[in-house]
Amino acid sequence: VSMIKVSDGIAGVSRREFLYGVGGGTLIASQFAEAAQPSAPLAQGQPEPKLQRVGEPPIEPSRRVGWAVVGLGKLALDQVLPAFGACGKSRLVALVSGDRAKAQRVASQYGVDPKHIYDYDSYDAIAQDPAIQVVYIILPNSLHANFSLRASRAGKHVLCEKPMAISATECQQMIDAAAQAQRKLMIGYRCHYEPCNLAAINLLRQGEIGKIRAVVTDNGQAIDPTDPAGEWRLRKSLAGGGSLMDIGIYGLNAARYLTGEEPIEVAAMVNSPGDDPRFREVEDLVVFTLRFPSGAIAHCSTSYSYAATSRFAVQGTTGVLTLDPATTYYEHALHVKTEKGSRKVELHEINQFAAEMDHFSAAILNQQPVKSPGEEGMQDVRLMHSIYEAARLGRPIKIDWTYRRPMQA
Ligand code: NDP
Repeated sequence: VSMIKVSDGIAGVSRREFLYGVGGGTLIASQFAEAAQPSAPLAQGQPEPKLQRVGEPPIEPSRRVGWAVVGLGKLALDQVLPAFGACGKSRLVALVSGDRAKAQRVASQYGVDPKHIYDYDSYDAIAQDPAIQVVYIILPNSLHANFSLRASRAGKHVLCEKPMAISATECQQMIDAAAQAQRKLMIGYRCHYEPCNLAAINLLRQGEIGKIRAVVTDNGQAIDPTDPAGEWRLRKSLAGGGSLMDIGIYGLNAARYLTGEEPIEVAAMVNSPGDDPRFREVEDLVVFTLRFPSGAIAHCSTSYSYAATSRFAVQGTTGVLTLDPATTYYEHALHVKTEKGSRKVELHEINQFAAEMDHFSAAILNQQPVKSPGEEGMQDVRLMHSIYEAARLGRPIKIDWTYRRPMQA
C-alpha cells in the first residue's frame, strides 16, 4: 500500500510529503515533481508516481533495528514517522513525548505497543527496554545534549537532529558519552543522502566545472512566531541562535561538502531589525564568508525574514553548478553549465529520512562507521560560534581545529 499526500510546509515553505504504508527499502518516486501539484492532494483516480526500490532489499521486520522517536513535533509527525514505511532496516518501536494523549494516538496509528511510550521523566527507563536500539532525538536544539547523553548512558545508539547542540562543550560531552557507552552517535544531516547533493559532490570531484573558486549558499524562510515550531526557534534558551543555527547550517555544511575542504578563516555580518519583535532574542539575517585552504571562498546567507530560499551554486574555472531547490524534502534541481552547454541532471527523488535512518541501522547491524558522526556535527557548531564571534568583532577570524571529514559523500 502506498499513498502520497501533498501539503504546504513549515512557515509557508512548499513541501511535499510522502506517506507510505507498509514498505521496505528506500522507495523513490520517478518524475514525482511533475506528478504532484504543489498545493493540492492527489486527486482521486490520479495515477501515483511509479515507485522503485533502491539499495539492498528490505530485511525481515523482526530483524530490523528498533527505533524510539523523542519529541512528536512537526518534523517527527510529518516526515520521520511516515518515513519508517519506506525503511528496509529500521522499525519504529517506541515513542517519547510530553503529551501522553498525542503519543497514544500516534502509537495506535503506527502500531507501537503503548508499553513502549515514555515521557521526559520516565525516559531513562529506556535502558530496560531491549526493543529500543536507536534513539532519534527531534527536540528543540538546547535539549539535544541532555537527551543524547541520557540515551548513550542507557546503552542506546543516538541519531540527533541538527544542530547537534548549542555549544561545542555539549557536543564534546555527547561524543564522549557515546564513546564511553561504546554506542554510535550520528547527526541528522539528511542532505548527505539526497541524490542531487550527492550527484553534485561527485561531479565536482570529477572536475566537471574545473577548479572550484567560489561557493554561494542561501537558505532562509520567513519564520512564523505563532506556529509552535516557530515559537521556540525565536527563544534563545531553546534554539541557541536564530536562522544560522536552524537553516544557515545547511549552507555551512554544504560549503564544506561541496568543496570537500574545511574552512580556515571566517568573516560575518548579522542584521536583526530592531523594530521586528521576532528578533528580540535570536538573529534574523547572517551573511558569512568562509576561506578554504585551496583558495576557494564561500559566501553564504541565511535569514528568518526573506522569502523561502534553498539554493547552492558552485563557480569553477570552467563551469557553474547550481542546486535550486537544494535542501527541500522532495524537490531538487541540479543544473550544470560548462563550455559544452547547459544541462539539467535528471535524478530520482528519494525519501531522505528513510535513507538516513537505514544508513544508521546498517552501520549498527554491520558494525560500520557512519557518514556524519558527532565530530561532523561539532565542526558545524564550532564554526557557527566562530561566525557569531567574527560578526561581533567586525573582523575575520582564523580557524582550524584540524578536523577532517571522515567520508566525502
Ligand atoms: P517542533 O516544535 O515541531 O517539535 C519539537 C517537539 O519537541 C515538540 O512537539 C514537543 O514534542 C517536544 N518538546 C519538548 N520540550 C519542548 C519545549 N520546551 N518546547 C517545544 N517543544 C518541546 O519542532 P521541529 O520538529 O520543527 O524541530 C525539532 C528539531 O528537529 C530541531 O532540532 C530542528 O532543528 C530539527 N529539524 C530538522 C529538520 C531536518 O530536515 N533535518 C527539519 C525540521 C526540524 P511533544 O509534544 O511530543 O513532547
